[in-house]
Amino acid sequence: MSSSTGRFGLVLAPGGLRLAQELVNTALDELQGTEDQLADPAAANGWLRDALARWADATGKSAPDLRLSAEDLPPLRRLREQLRQATRAQAEHLQPSAAAPAELLPVDIRLQFDSDGGVDYRPVERGWEGVAALVALELLLAHSNGTLSRLKSCAGTRCGVSFYDESRNQARVWHDSKVCGNAPNLRASRARRKNQQ
Ligand SMILES: [Zn+2]
Repeated sequence: MSSSTGRFGLVLAPGGLRLAQELVNTALDELQGTEDQLADPAAANGWLRDALARWADATGKSAPDLRLSAEDLPPLRRLREQLRQATRAQAEHLQPSAAAPAELLPVDIRLQFDSDGGVDYRPVERGWEGVAALVALELLLAHSNGTLSRLKSCAGTRCGVSFYDESRNQARVWHDSKVCGNAPNLRASRARRKNQQ
């Protein structure tokens, strides 16, 4: 199964940060005709199992046993949009609005230190709060290792796909400049032509 991010032909963010990216990319995308993977519990649990397996691959930890019920879906979809707004601001070099990260705060995580000096972490809750807690912790870790500012949502007017900006100057604003960069370019060139007539 291709990841939600793979649907857009994009690479996954490094480490556990990919879970935040994968959550944003579950959304329906009108431009590219992708389905909402959080539309119902069956689809959402299929997505979550897959996303947690990729998270486990990237972090070397075992995937936590999280399950989503129908009641978990509305708050998880709200969290998805808040994440998109917060990371869109990164792409546009704006400060995220103060309201954006408010609901990302419940970091209810159990830490376990193992004998070789490593630390394991897993959410306490099993539903959407568990997903939110793991996402929040990964955002915090990414902030501390400097990768968070590279996670962006596309600045395209009808887009918002989450991509990881690997460019040296970290200046990418489109998830795909051919798809999303062209519309503004086209408008600009039409405006120029009109002015010349
Ligand atoms: Zn885009």
